[in-house]
Amino acid sequence: MVHVGIGYDVHALVEGRKLILGGVEIPHAKGLDGHSDADALMHAICDALLGAIGEVDIGHFFPNSDPRWRDAPSKVFLEEAARQISASKGRIVNVDATIIAQEPKLFPHIAGMKANIAAALGVKENQIGIKATTNEHMGFIGRGEGIAAMATAGVDLQP
Ligand SMILES: [Zn+2]
Repeated sequence: MVHVGIGYDVHALVEGRKLILGGVEIPHAKGLDGHSDADALMHAICDALLGAIGEVDIGHFFPNSDPRWRDAPSKVFLEEAARQISASKGRIVNVDATIIAQEPKLFPHIAGMKANIAAALGVKENQIGIKATTNEHMGFIGRGEGIAAMATAGVDLQP
């Protein structure tokens, strides 16, 4: 039976940080602020995967008070989510995600994000959907103050 999960994440854009989304370093004047590499896309996907197996959010497993995860590449969080799904005898069916960012243009980086996420989860790239949209200049995302991501995941679990 396929179980569906949902995830959402947002980080502030600040100067002096690299912008990393889906494990791709994207040239931009600002980057996402956070304890780890602040990869909002990977974090949203982690929560969707964990939600599908009835688990708590990724921050519970990797608390931002723990110095081990300072500037950590978020693919380790995805690898942990995949490990938990395997431990539950589950199989990832698909992941679909949308990044909401006013700037920069993300389309040229989508293929790289897909490849990184598929590799971290041990699935094929055609099981990963990544889209990007702007916020039409409205609100904090539209003003370039932050970037958000939302994701869903399907996990096949034995009844
Ligand atoms: Zn996050």
